[in-house]
Amino acid sequence: MKVPFLDLHAHHEPLRQQFDEVIHHVIESGAFAGGPFVDRFEEDFAAYCECAHAIGVGSGTEALWLCLLALGIGAGDEVITVPNSFMATAEAISYCGARPVFVDVDECTYTMNPEALADAITPKTKAIIPVHIFGQPADMDPILALAQEHGLHVIEDACQAHGARYKERRAGSMGIAGCFSFYPGKNLGAFGEAGAIVTNNPDLNEKIRVLRDHGQFRKYHHSKIGWNCRMDGIQGGILRVKLKMLENKNQNRRAHAAHYNRALVQIPGVLTPLHASYAQHVYHIYAIRVKERERIMERLTQKQIGCAVHYPIPIHLQEAYRSLGYEKGSFPVAERCAREFISLPMYPELTSEQVKQVASCLNEAISEID
Ligand SMILES: *Cc1c(COP(=O)(O)O)cnc(C)c1O
Repeated sequence: MKVPFLDLHAHHEPLRQQFDEVIHHVIESGAFAGGPFVDRFEEDFAAYCECAHAIGVGSGTEALWLCLLALGIGAGDEVITVPNSFMATAEAISYCGARPVFVDVDECTYTMNPEALADAITPKTKAIIPVHIFGQPADMDPILALAQEHGLHVIEDACQAHGARYKERRAGSMGIAGCFSFYPGKNLGAFGEAGAIVTNNPDLNEKIRVLRDHGQFRKYHHSKIGWNCRMDGIQGGILRVKLKMLENKNQNRRAHAAHYNRALVQIPGVLTPLHASYAQHVYHIYAIRVKERERIMERLTQKQIGCAVHYPIPIHLQEAYRSLGYEKGSFPVAERCAREFISLPMYPELTSEQVKQVASCLNEAISEID
């Protein structure tokens, strides 16, 4: 039995009629760029994230970038983040003129190590971007305490963590702002590119709204040099339909993760993900760690099990960031994880037969290479 890495078709099929209806409404209304469908989604998404405001934009990358710009971060500033994220986290920092500074992650949760963070703060540091990688929030209390002590902004990269919680709090609601991506494969995915920022800060909300629309505070009145980062009306409509299902779908992901954990714990040499006691994890990615990753993945692929690596090269070792001067060995935990991670199929519509099949193929693959 074949198990794909991701199955968007299974995810969308039961909702086809609702999608057709909302797309029809958008076409009828002509509200294609921003407009009422985006406004309504923003209201719902802010409420879901337990925040006062949500601002829809064109992607998660734009969410991060506009947030940093609106906070006045630019040339000469340093922003601290982690090397085991998608490139966009660092790119957003670079694109507003600041310098990304990386710190290593915790060996068990793969999120920002608060002790390493403390050592990386300099007089130039302006903000910290913890990444809730794979759907598990970073350990926010010590990060927020350090930020407060040094007068720094915390921007959560919640692009993989829609609906996750840290203790009682929603991912995205703890820092000055939280940034989300609605790339199609994310836990809440659009029909194309989209993203959002959530915040409780009214001033930041206003600034980002102006920046995402060419710096206009009124039509053709520009107070700032902004950019076009509006969300499409169709994406707003689609996301509003899908948001209603998100709690349920995240619950399914947690159930699949628990099933994987039970099935994989018996396989020698497989390290299953830790679900931190402070977290409600939303398993955007279910990543295990193994030695001999390439040989195992080759065999999984032969057995028609979809798998992937998030991410094979940590950001500090990317060619694009050679000028920052980091070397191999700078962040041993992130580098070891990058060598050992395999992401297994994870989506709400997985069946328990599929989970069993993945586990048994992994077991076979590992015994074959011994
Ligand atoms: C997906 C992702 C982004 C970027 O979002 P886009 O919508 O693809 O621009 C940023 N950070 C992380 C951690 C992501 O997973």
